[in-house]
Amino acid sequence: MQVPDIIIAIDGYSSTGKSSFAKIVANEFGFLYLDSGALYRGVTLFAIEKRLINEDCTIDIPALTGALEELDLHFGKGGTYIGDRCIENEIRSLEVAGKVSPIAAVPQVRNYVDRKLREFGRNKRVVMDGRDIGTTVFPEAELKLFMTADPMIRAQRRLAEMNAKGDHADLQEVLKNLQERDYIDSHREVSPLTKADDALVLDNSNMTIDDQMEWLKEVIQKRFNC
Ligand code: C5P
Repeated sequence: MQVPDIIIAIDGYSSTGKSSFAKIVANEFGFLYLDSGALYRGVTLFAIEKRLINEDCTIDIPALTGALEELDLHFGKGGTYIGDRCIENEIRSLEVAGKVSPIAAVPQVRNYVDRKLREFGRNKRVVMDGRDIGTTVFPEAELKLFMTADPMIRAQRRLAEMNAKGDHADLQEVLKNLQERDYIDSHREVSPLTKADDALVLDNSNMTIDDQMEWLKEVIQKRFNC
């Protein structure tokens, strides 16, 4: 399938399979895949290590804003890096997951991440997933999806993913974390998680990846005549 030069923006709730789907879509169409959440997680890991966020999620915003000027956060071989250190595993921990939404609500953090993300959109042929890609980062994206699924199904999927990596957690704890993140992400002042008016809803509660791909191909064929 010859897909034109477009940006595909995928937003939605936590653990709806956005990243897995976006990666497969990018692979299928020969697009670049970018995980915007990884950058928010990277800033969070950095803030934890520099002790700029404490246990109750109080953030030293002036110090964090200053420190961001020195932070070399980028994508490289195998995932996300700070300088030449690969942080892909650490940013997936429950500790980072528990602190990322308050960090992502800080406007200076959003500016920092947005600047990096927009650079990648210049040449189109990008699939980016996150919470505000279709509303704020690329409001001009030619195709916007909004992914959702039943919260318990999402928690079960996330737990299975963690177990597969050897990380053990409790189902209720995982469910609580994703519901808390959804709440904070949807209620923050800057770029809250919300469906763009022109986004198509994809509820994958009872869909396999193949079902989702088939759905997407039909959408693309109809919209772009390809
Ligand atoms: O996608 P992922 O679950 O890795 O994102 C982690 C967190 O980063 C989200 O819960 C959200 O707080 C934040 N995020 C965001 N805007 C994005 C992507 C992620 O606020 N575009």
